Amino acid sequence: MKVVKFGGTSLASAEQIRKVCNIIREDAERRLVVVSAPGKRHKQDTKVTDLLIRYAERYLAEGAAEAEKAAVCQRFWEIAEGLELSRKIMEPIMAQLEAVLAERKVDHPARFIDKVKAAGEDTCAKLVAQYLRSLGEQAEYVNPYEAGLYVSDEAGNAQVLPVAYEHLRSLRERSGIVVFPGFFGYTPDGVLVTFSRGGSDITGSILAAAVKAEVYENFTDVDSVYVVNPNLVEHPKEIREITYREMRELSYSGFSVFHDEALIPAYQAGIPVHIRNTNNPSAPGTMIVAERKSHPQIVSGIASDRGFCSLFVSKFLMNREIGFGRKLLQILEEEGLSYEHTPSGIDNISVILREAALTEEKEKRIVQRIREELAVDHVSVERNLALVMIVGEGMRKSVGTSARATQALAKANVNLEMINQGSSEVSMMFGVKEVDVDRAVLALYHEFFQPEQVPSLR
Ligand code: ASP
Repeated sequence: MKVVKFGGTSLASAEQIRKVCNIIREDAERRLVVVSAPGKRHKQDTKVTDLLIRYAERYLAEGAAEAEKAAVCQRFWEIAEGLELSRKIMEPIMAQLEAVLAERKVDHPARFIDKVKAAGEDTCAKLVAQYLRSLGEQAEYVNPYEAGLYVSDEAGNAQVLPVAYEHLRSLRERSGIVVFPGFFGYTPDGVLVTFSRGGSDITGSILAAAVKAEVYENFTDVDSVYVVNPNLVEHPKEIREITYREMRELSYSGFSVFHDEALIPAYQAGIPVHIRNTNNPSAPGTMIVAERKSHPQIVSGIASDRGFCSLFVSKFLMNREIGFGRKLLQILEEEGLSYEHTPSGIDNISVILREAALTEEKEKRIVQRIREELAVDHVSVERNLALVMIVGEGMRKSVGTSARATQALAKANVNLEMINQGSSEVSMMFGVKEVDVDRAVLALYHEFFQPEQVPSLR
């Protein structure tokens, strides 16, 4: 049995949904289908999920959001028309969507937003199931609550509960094709909660682990995962096979092909993930596996992400002070901040944080507390940082990779703010100023993937 998930661009129009259904029908093992909400049809277009979020926010602020509601409904009606689904079939589906968007008093805004957001996937799954039926397939929509996809009660950031895997296992026994909406589950007492953005990948992975699928096929709009962001570098090399660990590191720092949280269930159950292209299904795609047979490259990929800042703290004899790190991190915990990395020296430590989480006001408070409570010599915050990551299982066994990387960065005149080798030894991270980040990525790509010719930025 294969679990197959389709992303937003694969469902953006009737034409795309026809492609999706051809892919499903080509292989009798594709029995568990997870869908996103319709995504962008072209660059300037708006995803249905974003339309729904706009609806919810405006509704909460102003008590009505008729234009946003109409835009969502119109997207679905257009798709239905293009698929020649009759009004009789569509009306009950659209009535359920409108019921979610109907006016009411909102007691719990975060739950309201989640419920509205999830309506994109939910409506899409019903529509795809109906379209498959119109083609003569035995297909049914399955609701995540009915199937037992139980999650924690954290609006917009649901975490799957272990019991969900037991419930979902029985999806194996269903005959025909199951069409399952991605992106959300329910608490055991029936509150709808969404995963973080892009979370339909997570649903697919949970289902694949629960039914012990032979493979989790994740259909998107690119031929494969590339060694570097193709929006940055012209014609980058493709990755045929990559390990879960490598993919985890890459998707953490800017590889948007596959949600980083989605790797966990597949990884734990040992299910290979196959990234494929709905618009070019004969392309080989990228396999994410536990172990790679070959290591053709020392570095498997380069990723980068902006929007970081560094909290730098120094204190003479910090290394001898028992509990210093804990006290420092406790201050951050009490301020509700999670940290990304903590490179350190004998008398200093940097804590790398996502910039968006550290408001000016929080920064002031934290700096003051660190000064007063930890009696440090120096504390400062540096903003506008970016992280560049080189990732590869091959790095563990090779000597001199960091020298090659730093030399390449020096040649490109990139000043390094910080270096951190992940303790797993499959990644090495460089902190640079945001203005230097694209040049840094290009220099590393040239060094590790295209030495014969200087690559150019897009
Ligand atoms: N539609 C949701 C989003 O845009 C979830 C997904 O597509 O995976 O975040």
